[in-house]
Amino acid sequence: MPLSSIRQTPFWHDQLGPMPTLQERPSARVDVLIVGAGYTGLSAALTTARGGRSTLVVDAEDPGYGCSSRNGGQISTSVKPSLEKLTAKFGFERARGIRAEGANALRWIGEFVSREGLDCDFRRVGRFHAAHTPGHYEELARDAETLRHQEGIESFAVPRVEQRRQLGTDAYFGGVVFSAHCSLHPGKFHRELLRLALGAGAQVVGQCRVQGIARNGSGFRVETAKGVVEARDVIVATNGYTTALTPWLQRRVIPIGSYIIATEELPEATIDELFPGDRIASDTCKVVYYYRASPDRRRVLFGGRVSASETTALAGAARLRQDMCRIFPQLEGVALSHAWSGTVAYSFDELAHTGVQDGIHYAMGYCGSGVSMAPYLGMRAGQKVLGLAEGQTGFDGLPFPTRPLYRGKPWFLPAAVAWYRWKDQRQFRKALQMT
Ligand SMILES: Cc1cc2nc3c(=O)[nH]c(=O)nc-3n(C[C@H](O)[C@H](O)[C@H](O)COP(=O)(O)OP(=O)(O)OC[C@H]3O[C@@H](n4cnc5c(N)ncnc54)[C@H](O)[C@@H]3O)c2cc1C
Repeated sequence: MPLSSIRQTPFWHDQLGPMPTLQERPSARVDVLIVGAGYTGLSAALTTARGGRSTLVVDAEDPGYGCSSRNGGQISTSVKPSLEKLTAKFGFERARGIRAEGANALRWIGEFVSREGLDCDFRRVGRFHAAHTPGHYEELARDAETLRHQEGIESFAVPRVEQRRQLGTDAYFGGVVFSAHCSLHPGKFHRELLRLALGAGAQVVGQCRVQGIARNGSGFRVETAKGVVEARDVIVATNGYTTALTPWLQRRVIPIGSYIIATEELPEATIDELFPGDRIASDTCKVVYYYRASPDRRRVLFGGRVSASETTALAGAARLRQDMCRIFPQLEGVALSHAWSGTVAYSFDELAHTGVQDGIHYAMGYCGSGVSMAPYLGMRAGQKVLGLAEGQTGFDGLPFPTRPLYRGKPWFLPAAVAWYRWKDQRQFRKALQMT
């Protein structure tokens, strides 16, 4: 199948019904205005609307335009730095509080989906995190022990000889299963959040870019593409799509493209061979790959970062396909149906951040792991606006670092990605040659 016949929209979008009818224009005055209608913004809106505040969410595009309907639908504990690293920086108690938020977000999303009865293919399938060299396997197995003892994180090591029970490949050197990790259908989850927010009475207005936020007495005057809105509180939930609208935040998040391909429908036996236990998967490469079966177990969805500079979804697809077939030679010759990308937000310390700057609430910087963390911190931001003590999080009060001369354009990224990709591939090849 020629690359040009691949649909350049997320596979997830094909399975969504029409967008619910939304209000065309925003009200002139609300209690809470939220910028960005992804998981963070809608979850914050649900919280403030249910808390009795008139709430408006605006998005520059259609709601869900950002990562929230484009991601891989994999849910982990979402805090990247280890307890040890965080302890060295912040001390043990603080570090434990930050790490605990990852587990809290993971637990929360399961409870939330079940309590609200959300139709989003949520499953507790577990993750197989694969080692791309024998050395990485040793390290993973050691870390799994530590994680279990120190943080109670359920995990077990799987040596290479047993790997095929988790994932149908010989390209890795064993790995670790995190049994509590989950998967969902990101597009359906976003639509369900939208349904709940609207049901709670929030207004959601699309194609309504916020162009300016200024103090106005004890509140804010917010200029949007569809008129001016007076708001008592503002929450910024723009993550990887943060712009000069909020320069302080723009200096603190690093926008990075992530790319996914979907295969055409495959025989049941192929999916059963590749994903025997329906686990989601990722690996120890520095420029990580993440992949899974689609919720209907008909396709493989394979994601990662394939080029040093940002590229088109189609150009990314050709390279992702090569990498996918290196891991799963069984997919050689299989056509792709979809290729798409989205922009995630990294932070300089690899932590999510939430707080209040110049009176404006924010939650962002999920470093590519926001499916549970984004709606969880959105909810916490909403609770803070309501003045509730449970809005406090382990991330509160942390410094949100930037770098000198950084203004939101990551000029350093292509060189860093090129270097790590080269290193990953070299390690991968060398390890496989030695077997
Ligand atoms: C390809 C890909 C794969 C991913 N895979 C995973 C995964 O498997 N697991 C995981 O945990 N995470 C994953 N992520 C990350 C996860 O999707 C995000 O962390 C999460 O969706 C962030 O949600 P959000 O609501 O904060 O931001 P977004 O969903 O990105 O929403 C931000 C919104 O802000 C809007 N906006 C920006 N500026 C303005 C303005 N001035 N006015 C109005 N609106 C504005 C944008 O239009 C956008 O809709 C992935 C991301 C991508 C791109």
